[in-house]
Amino acid sequence: MSTIKIAESPNGIEGPGFFATSLDAAVGMARKNSLWPLPFATSCCGIEFMATMASTYDLGRFGAERLSFSPRQADLLMVMGTISKKMGPVLRQVYEQMAEPKWVLSMGACASSGGIFDTYSVLQGIDRIIPVDVYIPGCPPRPEQVLDGILKIQELVQNESLRRRDSTEYKAMLQEYGME
Ligand code: SF4
Repeated sequence: MSTIKIAESPNGIEGPGFFATSLDAAVGMARKNSLWPLPFATSCCGIEFMATMASTYDLGRFGAERLSFSPRQADLLMVMGTISKKMGPVLRQVYEQMAEPKWVLSMGACASSGGIFDTYSVLQGIDRIIPVDVYIPGCPPRPEQVLDGILKIQELVQNESLRRRDSTEYKAMLQEYGME
């Protein structure tokens, strides 16, 4: 018996030989199940991410096993670890090089808030320089939490309107970060 699980089809109208749904729903389903993460790992949280990728937790089950180390071929930026202020401009450049639509997952206390490193040299949260979609708490978060974060991202991706990136709210949000 095959153990391959077919992705759930979106809501639509079904009949003999046909299935109709909205373009938003079809694109959302495809994007949700084919995320290309870019792991931006600087310290210990990155090790926990490696465990999440490995056979026991197997991120590939969510259609996200193809990691990208080029921002131009990634749509999910996963930031894991302590981000120093010196590293901030690099992270921002990576984000800016990613094509729309793109999402950001902040993994662990360091990436989300600076964590225990309340010092002059550590960025106190990556959302000071780039917008974040989902935060994963913990130091480090367990792989189950990372999977939960991915599921939350999938939920956002699936339900995002195709027009969101052109909306005035989205543009205003980017402007707050000094981006276009
Ligand atoms: S949150 Fe904890 S485990 Fe993750 S990078 Fe910071 S110190 Fe390391």
